[in-house]
Amino acid sequence: SPAPLGSSVISLVNRLQDIFSRVGIQNTIELPQVAVVGSQSSGKSSVLEALVGRDFLPRGNDICTRRPLVLQLVQTKRHPDGTEEEFGEFLHLPGRRFHDFSQIRREIQAETDKEAGDNKGVSDKQIRLKIFSPNVLDITLVDLPGITKVPVGDQPSDIEARIRTMIMSYIKVPSCLILAVTPANSDLANSDALQMAGIADPDGNRTIGVITKLDIMDRGTDARNLLLGKVVPLRLGYVGVVNRCQEDILLNRSIKDALVAEEKFFRSRPVYSGLADSCGIPQLAKKLNQILAQHIKTVLPGLRARISTSLAGQGALLLNILSKYCDAFSSMVDGKNEEMSTSELSGGARIHYIFQSIFV
Ligand code: GDP
Ligand code: MG
Repeated sequence: SPAPLGSSVISLVNRLQDIFSRVGIQNTIELPQVAVVGSQSSGKSSVLEALVGRDFLPRGNDICTRRPLVLQLVQTKRHPDGTEEEFGEFLHLPGRRFHDFSQIRREIQAETDKEAGDNKGVSDKQIRLKIFSPNVLDITLVDLPGITKVPVGDQPSDIEARIRTMIMSYIKVPSCLILAVTPANSDLANSDALQMAGIADPDGNRTIGVITKLDIMDRGTDARNLLLGKVVPLRLGYVGVVNRCQEDILLNRSIKDALVAEEKFFRSRPVYSGLADSCGIPQLAKKLNQILAQHIKTVLPGLRARISTSLAGQGALLLNILSKYCDAFSSMVDGKNEEMSTSELSGGARIHYIFQSIFV
């Protein structure tokens, strides 16, 4: 399995939430949403699934994602006996718990057909799915339909404009992190993902470039220059990934196996050897981790202030702990003191990745 990320944002956030709830402050740290953009079949759903570490999204070489899927991860408490329960629940089916993730996929498909028809129609009406698990951080991921140019099936003639408007309504939100997905076997300079992300986030402060399909590039070519940002520069850089191909999907190949295969792919190609930071789903998870940690760092001082007023002098100890957290967090984010953040602060807590192995 891939190497741990080294920073335990989940346990840090949990401990912070614990501290806050002791003084009656709930839902303190609101993490930004993460949305995927790109052309149809560029691998958006595959990337999201790999990040979450569970198979539950419709994927394929045709138009699969035809309604926005708003996926809310919700952290639950572990049972006292140590067992854990993970399940999904749809907004349109309140009270019904899906423990079987392949059934979640079937429900997404059925619900898509219900609203958008069964002939490739697209709708901007959301499907809202919550996944409850003790092993996740409270965060929202959005899977979006891909950009298409030529209307097929029941699609209206202005399908491209409609999909662009839909995507823009999500990624224009200033706190939304954008995963701009482009397949390696297409021209990056023509990337719909980068074009739209560039409009929504012109400074590139919240856009990560994701290059998929490195395994099926034209023979004799590689993605080195793309990943290095030499083709289209991007402030937060690029990560190249290898997801499951259609055959893997038909053969029900697991995410775990796919990650092993991805690691092997990069290890066996010398051209990517100096680019370890920009290769593989675990690196993408790590990049997201760092951005989220940075975000937490920026909201901490405000929280500290809120606590000190609400305690009115009686919570010196709490404030002290919190100050320690803020400082340790800052040094962790700045990469100065990873040891302390993981050993001293999270104590015996397990080290989680935020995304990769979000379900352990
Ligand atoms: P989306 O339309 O952007 O959500 O793309 P999907 O995730 O549904 O993937 C579209 C097709 O491309 C599926 O058949 C996937 O199996 C395939 N695919 C996605 N990523 C990769 C990759 O990195 N390598 C290969 N070989 N196939 C991929
Ligand atoms: Mg999709």
